[in-house]
Order: sequence, then structure tokens, then C-alpha cells
Amino acid sequence: MTPRGRYDAVIVGAGISGLYLLHRLRELGLSVLVVDQATGVGGTWFWNRYPGARCDIESMTYSYSWSHELEQEWTWSERYAAQPEILAYLEHVADRFDLRRDIRLGTRIAEAALEESEDRWSIVTGDGERLSATFLIMATGCLSVPRIPDVPGLARFAGELHHTGLWPHEGVDVAGKRVGVIGTGSSAVQAIPIIAQEAAHLTVFQRTANFSVPAWNGPLGADAVRKRKARYETLRSLARTTPAGNPWNTSPQSIWEATPEEREREFEERYAVGGFCLHAAYRDIFQDPAANELLCEFLREKIRRRVHDPAVAELLCPYDHPVGTKRMCVDTGYFETYNRDNVRLVSIRDRPIDEITERGLRIGEEHFALDTIVLGTGFDAITGALLAIDLRGRGGLSLREKWAGGPRSALGLAIAGFPNLFTVTGPGSPSVLSNMMVSIEQHVDWIVDCIAHLRERGIATIEPTDEREDAWVAHVREVGDASLYPRAASWYMGANIPGKPRVLLPYVGGVGAYRELCDAVAERGYEGFVLR
Ligand code: NAP
Repeated sequence: MTPRGRYDAVIVGAGISGLYLLHRLRELGLSVLVVDQATGVGGTWFWNRYPGARCDIESMTYSYSWSHELEQEWTWSERYAAQPEILAYLEHVADRFDLRRDIRLGTRIAEAALEESEDRWSIVTGDGERLSATFLIMATGCLSVPRIPDVPGLARFAGELHHTGLWPHEGVDVAGKRVGVIGTGSSAVQAIPIIAQEAAHLTVFQRTANFSVPAWNGPLGADAVRKRKARYETLRSLARTTPAGNPWNTSPQSIWEATPEEREREFEERYAVGGFCLHAAYRDIFQDPAANELLCEFLREKIRRRVHDPAVAELLCPYDHPVGTKRMCVDTGYFETYNRDNVRLVSIRDRPIDEITERGLRIGEEHFALDTIVLGTGFDAITGALLAIDLRGRGGLSLREKWAGGPRSALGLAIAGFPNLFTVTGPGSPSVLSNMMVSIEQHVDWIVDCIAHLRERGIATIEPTDEREDAWVAHVREVGDASLYPRAASWYMGANIPGKPRVLLPYVGGVGAYRELCDAVAERGYEGFVLR
């Protein structure tokens, strides 16, 4: 029996990470509580219910690999599943593995402090309830704190205003309405084509044009599913070793070894496959600006062909960042939407929105009358959810203070001064630069194996040394600086949040190489960590 509120492990977040963590830690015999502020399981897929929301990684890859029975039983209906189907899948997992009895929903974690004398975490919920745990695992997600922009007058708007990441469960009726969408990132790029079909008129306010490739989404035929299921193990293994955690061919070739004709053919073939496999066409796309520019121009040419009005097409062509350094979008009919009579694109690059008014928004002399405003304005990514909690480690050390100049961790998994605290897909790990499912499973397995190691040996605490952490932070920076990522004002760089330190948050070394580094640390008895 566990005394009330006292657990071996408390997991914050009941999304993809939290569900798998609970399953694995239970197998170890730990008492576990998962806490989530949402009223349902599913994490990102619980919240993001905007029209057109679907995954940009293929579902047969973006699904758990840890249960052979589950992956054989579950059948995805489309190549890229829509949000309701992904949420249904995660709810099914919660039921099938009897996870719900250890999940507390509608509960936010406000604070957690280390009780050094007891080697335990003292955790306080938003309602003031106290919990206590030996291990505190942050499965809080990389994109779970929506960013509401500081546009003057937001509160004044008399129509409906919704952020894509906080979409109402009952949906939003835009039929016959004048709708404005602010933002052209992945969320907006998915929502815009659907809203355009339903609304009387749609105005898209674009600050930065984005690259996008077609998803070529469609139903998954029974034959394709059967063949894929038969090869599941091979494809999963391949995905785990690739840079981005996807089972496609990552070319070791330099772009300069190919003739222009070969290059064009390679790009076309990958464009015809759809999704992110274009990134892996040549090894130097993320290192060499000239190599990257060749892919940029290939994609701009596609935009020019997809959009009828040359002036609109030019506005939609990105010129200010190398492709991939801001997350590329994967779309269904996005650029073609601008060929519709009821859609207008307004660039706010040089002339930002002055204010939201009661009946719309104003830019300079022009007033845009709107019934509904959709904010596709993104998230306080990767660190936002961690820093939303007042976390205090040894000697009352505050994580907010420790990370004031940017996040510091060992392997993106653990933090010096915060023993027995783990972060799943934390800053300094591949996370958002990879298929999240692959990265999540790798982190959960590493963390659970680590906890098993401690318990088998009667070890009370584990935490990285300062030296281990310094070395990892330096390595993350070195690999990042050798890439093109720092050239973009992206959320990967913290650039979308005023005052956030400009550091590259994810680790760009690739999923396969990263896994080897993590495994090597464990194999050497958690080298660089203090076990006490
Ligand atoms: P995002 O990529 O951060 O895009 C936010 C958009 O809002 C950008 O176009 C940004 O412009 C604009 N914006 C922000 N503040 C603004 C302001 N004050 N005025 C005008 N424009 C403003 O956010 P997101 O689209 O929600 O996507 C976030 C991430 O979630 C994606 O990159 C992806 O990793 C993930 N995601 C995945 C999927 C999928 O699997 N299909 C779907 C949705 C999201 P700037 O670029 O100029 O800052």
C-alpha cells in the first residue's frame, strides 16, 4: 500500500511519453502517478483539435513500437492520421494497458522541490495538494505552452478568437464567416485549406513565408497495411538508427557529387514521396548554405507552379531562412488555397498588425472586418512547460535561474543539481528534429533502465556532474554551430518568444548517433553521473 500522496514516481504529462512511462515503470513494480492538467489523456493530441490537424509523420511510423500485439491489432485508416484518430489510438492504449487508474487528470503541477534530507521530491499541485516521489519525470511535451502574441487590443475583440493549440472541443463554426488566420506555421498551414472551404472569406496574415511539401495523404489500403505490418520490425529498427528517426533512405552523398540532372531527379522523386524525406536527399543540406539553397529554389519553383497569381506566389516564397531551419510544413492543398476567390494573403512582414479592434484588426489605414480570428502563433517550445513549474533542486536552486541564459542538461535527460529528475525529450536532445515517437521511446527506455539499475543496487539518487553537463552543453552547441539551424529566427532557437535566450534548443546530432551516446553512458555505469 502506498501512503496517500506518496509514490515511487510522479510523471507530469499523460501524452505519448507519460503513457509509455507509466506502463514501463509499473512493470518494474513501482508505485506511479501520472498527472496532467488536461481533462483527457493524449497530450498534444488532446489539445490540438483545429480543423485539419494531423501528424506530419506517417502514422505507421508515428505509433508505439513497444507492443507487438498493439502494432499488429491497430489499423490506421490514412497515411497521415488526423487528430481524432491519433487521440483515439492513445485512448485505446490507456484502456488496453489499464493505465487510467494511475492517471490523475485536470490537475496541474505548480511546484516541485527537492527534500534533500529524504532524497524525495515534494510536489505541489495547482490546488495546493502535496505529493511526494522518489523520481520526478517531466513528460511535459515540447509544444504544450501556446503562445498568445502581444498584439494590442486582443481582449477587445468581440468575435471569436482561438489559438490552434487550445481549440474548443465542440469545434468552431466558421460557415459563412469572415475569418482571419495569424501565422503560417505547421498548424496554420493545415488549418487554412479547411477553413477556406467553409468560411465566407479568409484572410491570412503572414509574417514569414514557410516551405511546405505535399503530404500526398490518402487512405491506407488493406494490402499496404498488411505488407507494412509484416515488415514492422525491420522498419522500426531502421528508423531508430537514422538521423531523423524515420525509415527512409538518408543519403550519405554530397550534393556536389551529383550532376544537376541527377539532383533534380532525386529531389523530384522525394517530392513525389512527400513529407520530410527531402531533407535526407544529400548529407550536406543542413551544413552547406549553397547545397541548402538548391533545395530552397527547387521548392520555391513548386510554389510558383502551385499558385496562379505570380505576385501571391512570390509572397509565399521563403527567402529568409535555409529550408528546414524553421520546421518545414507538410500540407494538403495549402498553396492551392490561395487560388480561391475567397482567400486573401496579407504580408505583415514589413507592416505588423497595429491592433485588434472590436470588429477585426487594423494594419495602417486598412481595417479588416473579421468575425473569427485564429491564432496559429505557435508555442513557448521545449523549455516552456518545464519552466512553467517552479522547480527547485539542491540548496533551493531554481531551474528558472539555472536556465536564465539557456537550458543546461546532460543528454537532454537529466540536470545537475536536480537528482532523480528526468526530462523526456528535453532541451539538448533530438526531440522535435526527429520522429517524436522514436525519440520518446528511446528516452523512456533509457530512464526506466536507469531507475531499474538504481533499484537493483540500492542506489538512492542519480544526477549528472557539472562537468558532464558542461561537456554536453558544449557538444550540443558545437554540433549546432556547424549546422545551418542558428541562421533562422525560429522557435528551435527560442526566437519566437520575446526575452527567451537565443540558443539552439534541440540536439542536431541525429537520433541514431544520439542513441549510441546515451547507451554508452549507461553501459559505462552512468559515466559522468553521481550515483549515491
Ligand atoms: P509555429 O511554427 O511557431 O508558427 C507560428 C506562426 O505564427 C509563424 O508563422 C509565426 O511567424 C507567426 N506568428 C507568431 N507570432 C506572431 C505575431 N505576433 N504576429 C504575426 N505572426 C506571428 O507554430 P505552429 O504552426 O503551431 O507549429 C509549431 C510546431 O508544432 C511545428 O513546427 C511542428 O513541429 C509542430 N506541429 C506539427 C504538426 C504536424 O505534425 N503536422 C502540426 C502542427 C504543429 P514567424 O515565423 O515570423 O515567427
